[in-house]
Amino acid sequence: MSVNYAAGLSPYADKGVCGLPETFDSPEEIKAKVETLAQLIKESQYLVVHSGAGISTSTGIPDFRGPKGVWTLEQKGESPHFDTTFEDARPSLTHMALLGLQRAGYLKYLISQNVDGLHVRSGFPRDMLSELHGNMFVEECEKCGRQYVREKVIGVMGLKPTGRYCDVVRSRGLRACRGKLISTILDWEDALPDRDLNKADDASRRADLALTLGTSMQIKPSGDLPLLTKRKGGKIVIVNLQPTKHDKHAHLRIHGYVDDVMKQLMELLELDIPKWEGPTVCETSTATSESTGDMKPPRSVNAKDKVKKEPIKEERKREATQLTDNVKEEAVSVKRERADSSAEINEEK
Ligand SMILES: [Zn+2]
Repeated sequence: MSVNYAAGLSPYADKGVCGLPETFDSPEEIKAKVETLAQLIKESQYLVVHSGAGISTSTGIPDFRGPKGVWTLEQKGESPHFDTTFEDARPSLTHMALLGLQRAGYLKYLISQNVDGLHVRSGFPRDMLSELHGNMFVEECEKCGRQYVREKVIGVMGLKPTGRYCDVVRSRGLRACRGKLISTILDWEDALPDRDLNKADDASRRADLALTLGTSMQIKPSGDLPLLTKRKGGKIVIVNLQPTKHDKHAHLRIHGYVDDVMKQLMELLELDIPKWEGPTVCETSTATSESTGDMKPPRSVNAKDKVKKEPIKEERKREATQLTDNVKEEAVSVKRERADSSAEINEEK
């Protein structure tokens, strides 16, 4: 079953800046920049990666604000093109490289805005991952907080009941929990999941290097998390083709395809990229991966994990923000530069 994620969300006027022109560094520039990135990673004590829809476009799932993005096309009255279903999508080289970086001990925490489930299905340990906008394959008990990773997309969005019930057996009795299971996918006005956001916030404060991959960082609060790293004295490295909201905060910006960048990076770090052998769910970084096929409900996620912390900030709703004027100006100048050479430039904004 293919679900158009975007079509399942409420209409929402402000989706941020869409369709900005892409910039491509030359192969020599990319090589030099990736060498710098590899050095930064080797020197880092605590690397956090922030991933956005740009890391999944090579799998056939469209992004949101790229030239062919869901919201970019929506503004033109067009529909997005999916080359795959969520179930059939295979993790990209980038997804697998991130798993390799985690296994090698470089990557300490992964924060994703993606709902496509590919980080989980790649076998990335769920206890080192925050999925801030939900996961198409995960439903959660509203009573005890237990999460169920399914093989098929849940098909319901906006934290609504899925029609299934929790079958966790309570410790004392024989009765199952029977709480309603709800979708984990956020609609525009939904608050972010506390546990995932708190862990992401903690990791971002602890990090000395924030690497952002394929995100324009226009959605709050997710997009602002790398700034916490910088505020604590850490560095931000941005890999994205389009301008991002936080370009001026970056120590290094790489304008290239994430898969190319990650491939070169892994070679420089002399690390293998794990092969994908079908959907795999790994609950904890210490346990071995559970194998494919039967995706059993996670053991480690229970009511304890659901304990709510004090909100760090009052504003936890997901909302789009505009690129800063700075970046907009920059984007406009990029557009002007490229206008001569390309007839394809969008006439947005
Ligand atoms: Zn339950």
